[in-house]
Amino acid sequence: MKLDTRLIHAGQEPDPVTGAVNVAINVSTTFKQDGIGGLRSGYEYARSGNPSRQSLEATLAAIENGTHARAFASGLAAETAVLSTLAAGDQVVSSSNIYGGTYRLFTKVFGKFGVRFTLVEGHGTKDLLEALTPAVRMIWLETPSNPLLDIVDIARIAEAKANALLVVDNTFASPYFQNPLDLGADLVVHSTTKYLGGHSDVVGGAVITGNAGLDADIGFYQNAEGAVPSPFDCYLVQRGIKTLGVRMKRHEENAYKVAQGLVGHPRVGRVLFPGLPEHPGHALSLRQMRGQSGVVTFELRGDAEALARFFSRLRLFTVGESLGGVESLVCLPYEMTHGSVPPEVKGRLGITPNLIRLSVGLEDGDELLEDLRSALQ
Ligand SMILES: *Cc1c(COP(=O)(O)O)cnc(C)c1O
Repeated sequence: MKLDTRLIHAGQEPDPVTGAVNVAINVSTTFKQDGIGGLRSGYEYARSGNPSRQSLEATLAAIENGTHARAFASGLAAETAVLSTLAAGDQVVSSSNIYGGTYRLFTKVFGKFGVRFTLVEGHGTKDLLEALTPAVRMIWLETPSNPLLDIVDIARIAEAKANALLVVDNTFASPYFQNPLDLGADLVVHSTTKYLGGHSDVVGGAVITGNAGLDADIGFYQNAEGAVPSPFDCYLVQRGIKTLGVRMKRHEENAYKVAQGLVGHPRVGRVLFPGLPEHPGHALSLRQMRGQSGVVTFELRGDAEALARFFSRLRLFTVGESLGGVESLVCLPYEMTHGSVPPEVKGRLGITPNLIRLSVGLEDGDELLEDLRSALQ
């Protein structure tokens, strides 16, 4: 099946008994066994597995070109399971230019247990390649990155990874525009809270792989740590996935309109959007991705007071964290999503106090641009 068909059908066939076209929200926490130790359905206790989650996991595996997937209660819960496969002394290479919560999980949680993180501060593939040694156990990429939208060459890193596991956070591109497993990644992680859920009404995460052994490891931590999504959460993510294709195309169209409309505006400094030819990752993004998602980052020219005025004058962009929902959002990464990254690191990365991140939603694109222009004015 083609991707647009898989979004609707993979893992979600009509119920063989009732004919219901939607997968049931099955709330049972325990499942009847055939006597002592005799399983009837394959399910035993809902943390270990349940029909609603299994159906979502089949969908996730199919749309990310994997064979196995595990669903979690949040993106960070999914990342926790991946990092739990490491032991004290293991070395991880990643970048400081990643989602702030991931940075916090690395430095404040797993670092405490003796996992060693080398976080490069450069902006590209080359900086990561230079940090690789044969001792590295895990390489963790986020591309496009949050909030600077740097593009890393996944296939190039995969060639150089030796025995390390290559993990790619594919939250920003979504499986609609990028499939890291096809480029040599071992594991893909998602915050399904963002584009996959798509409606800002469910927090969730996922880990997807094409390797049964790795999936068994992740499954062990999914069950042992227990950060699993509720059946209703699974339903919401699966419902979101059905419209991923139509939503991503519209996010892309609106993001191009907004990014192109901001370039050259007298009150706007640099505009970061990989779809713009002047973006350093432009050519690579065209090779590696099938489209651009709806995040556009730019710098406002002006002081703190001008920044506050700009935020208060927006009518259609709601000030808030998160991204990937149908509604447009605006945030100030320096204070909000990246509040937990030390100021000196933010300074070196170029996450400046007047850097603004937009999650361009599905409203009328011309009206979105007009909203930004009038607030800038
Ligand atoms: C939001 C986000 C996460 C964390 O996911 P939660 O669902 O909020 O726990 C991880 N990575 C990226 C790129 C994100 O945007």
